[in-house]
Amino acid sequence: MDFCDLNHTTGIYYGIMICLYRVSVNRSLYLTERGSGTIISLTVGVVAPDEVKMGLEDYRQKREFGRTPEPAGEAGSGEGNRFVVQKHQASHLHYDFRLEMEGVLRSWAVPKGVPDISGVRRLAVQTEDHPVDYIDFAGTIPGGEYGAGTVEIWDKGTFRLDRETAAQLEFTLEGERLSGAYVLVHTDGKNWLLLKRKEKSH
Ligand code: MN
Repeated sequence: MDFCDLNHTTGIYYGIMICLYRVSVNRSLYLTERGSGTIISLTVGVVAPDEVKMGLEDYRQKREFGRTPEPAGEAGSGEGNRFVVQKHQASHLHYDFRLEMEGVLRSWAVPKGVPDISGVRRLAVQTEDHPVDYIDFAGTIPGGEYGAGTVEIWDKGTFRLDRETAAQLEFTLEGERLSGAYVLVHTDGKNWLLLKRKEKSH
């Protein structure tokens, strides 16, 4: 076999280049939001160590419904297309971003809030699915309970799901404060990055 064969060499070259490109993109996305020690400690506070399970089992296990005013809730029909951003002044301030999908609210805690300009990457840590009723929840979770602190609705509206893959969720928001095309990119474990996409010119 001739290893100096041009096609072969070119193939290896491109293989390596693609590999390097992927690593550098992932690392730069990752490091931008993880560079701060504050964010890392905040992440630990917001997320339980176990994996996010589908359904509302996790949600219910974390809460005592006699003590918290949060809804116990049921899974819905799965036909809704609403979103909400709840400003949650817990032990650390964060913004809970929730999309109504498959009868639950898929949820992410965004320490720095949902960006309203393109090019800004925000760490979004996936949290347990919430019941659809939670979309209207605002109030005070008493001290000692899970997520103790105040919750207020920062924005709400509807969204259109544009594309979904295992690693990426693309959608377009139409809210009171937020609007436009967004993407959630899965980086690893519970960590995602939330970005506003550049508007495509038609
Ligand atoms: Mn929260």
